[in-house]
Amino acid sequence: MNKTDCNIIRDLLPLYIDEVCSSQSRRLVEEHLKECESCRKELEQMKSDMPLESPMGADNPQKTLMRIRKAIKAKYVIIALCAVIIGGGLFAGYAVMNLIESPMYYEEIDLKAVQDKNDPEQYNLIMNGPDYHCYYGESVTLKETKKYRYVAAVIHFTSTPWTRVFGKKSLDNMCVSGFKSDPDCTDSDSYTQNEDGSKQYDKTVAAYYQATPGSERHLLWEADWYKEMLEKEKVAGKVKAEKSKQK
Ligand SMILES: [Zn+2]
Repeated sequence: MNKTDCNIIRDLLPLYIDEVCSSQSRRLVEEHLKECESCRKELEQMKSDMPLESPMGADNPQKTLMRIRKAIKAKYVIIALCAVIIGGGLFAGYAVMNLIESPMYYEEIDLKAVQDKNDPEQYNLIMNGPDYHCYYGESVTLKETKKYRYVAAVIHFTSTPWTRVFGKKSLDNMCVSGFKSDPDCTDSDSYTQNEDGSKQYDKTVAAYYQATPGSERHLLWEADWYKEMLEKEKVAGKVKAEKSKQK
């Protein structure tokens, strides 16, 4: 048996096993195998080495392994890309959900001033409405004397898509602020110096809810003594006006 013949036959053997060679080659292999002991052995060896069913088709194991490795690599790249895209998306989404702030309207919140059980002069702003993002407040001057600046706390809440979707649907009697209904109570830290050196103290006498600048103010709380004081001044003003008319 010619060595070249054997080499050609061995090249053909994988195709022969997989039954993908031409009938001519097939015949050639079969005729050779009848006469060549070593090629028959080679065929048996090849058959036993081959998996019964290769998932990747008729490739040799080396190629199959490489294909699997490539597939795994590609998989990791895709997973990494997906992670980056999803992570970036989540971050952007979270930022958008927390940064887009919009005012909450008086009608959509549940806020009321409730007298404190232990301190009758203390009024607490109790919230039961939906969750909010931020609480804003500013002092607005209602009336001024040399000694006092009567101010109203004008407050509003904001919400974000985040608080609207994930926030509590109702807060459980949450105290957001408190006011003293005491005519003698002043905030000693909050005053302005008059020109003559005396101090003008701030007195918070009312609280309003105002969602946006210029929109309607809803009274939340007003100190009784302040109401009475205004009433007395009104009466006094009327009396004065009457007197000046009579003259
Ligand atoms: Zn041979």
